[in-house]
Amino acid sequence: APSEGMTVFPVPDLPEITPEDDIAALVSDRVDLRPDDVVCVASTVVSKAEGRVADLEDFPAGPRAREVAARLERATGEEKDPQFAQAVLEESTDLLMEAPFLLTETRFGHVTVNAGIDRSNVPGGDLLLLPRRPDESAARIASGLDAERVVVTDTCGRPFRHGQRGVAVGWAGTPAARDWRGEHDREGRELGVTVQAIVDELAAAANLVAGEGAGGTPVVVVRDFEFGDHDGSDALFRDVEGDFVRQALRGWSFE
Ligand code: GDP
Ligand code: MN
Ligand code: MN
Ligand code: MN
Repeated sequence: APSEGMTVFPVPDLPEITPEDDIAALVSDRVDLRPDDVVCVASTVVSKAEGRVADLEDFPAGPRAREVAARLERATGEEKDPQFAQAVLEESTDLLMEAPFLLTETRFGHVTVNAGIDRSNVPGGDLLLLPRRPDESAARIASGLDAERVVVTDTCGRPFRHGQRGVAVGWAGTPAARDWRGEHDREGRELGVTVQAIVDELAAAANLVAGEGAGGTPVVVVRDFEFGDHDGSDALFRDVEGDFVRQALRGWSFE
């Protein structure tokens, strides 16, 4: 049967999130969830609930961070805090670009600028670090909800295109992708490569409703999204071996 389409709506009246808060309980109090709803939660509030607010003073800069900050200052002509560079390095397992900005791989495999450390919507601290293990965060939130599927989102930039958009940094209760390979298009041609990153597409839809500023809507429900009859895959973050753009970056240098 043709899909009826889906709806995307914010959870109303959520408070400022603190480490005392149980996000699942706050959401359950405000929405009657259905089992197949996808609950998309901005990483900002997951981080707040997990106590991931930090101060620059928590990251005394070592020699590597001072070197990284100095390089950034030369590249941008702007003042760069070595403590911030230290925070980024501590949250990262790899530095893909050092100038004119820090492009890093986080400890959980997500490649993003500044290890996803956020300086907007952070009360009582300078920095908000991403959740340590967003998949586990998603599973924990899902266990407290009547809905099975949870996606933890963040707003990220991307190469090649201007503008930022929502992506998934963690997920539970759903595969990350649906695999169309082996299925057929309208001409009967077999699809050879298409693996659709549905958690990113759900995150983008949710982020569109969540907004970026003072809106106060960090949790968004996607209702009536049907995964359909397809194989699933949990591969989202590429391994270095299969990531040719990342390999090309290794031979490239700013300046
Ligand atoms: P990020 O994309 O995960 O970095 O999150 P943003 O900082 O862009 O915030 C996404 C949405 O959540 C915006 O509508 C913010 O106003 C809202 N938001 C951020 N923190 C809180 C909070 O503690 N409580 C509530 N109710 N909304 C928040
Ligand atoms: Mn933010
Ligand atoms: Mn963010
Ligand atoms: Mn955002």
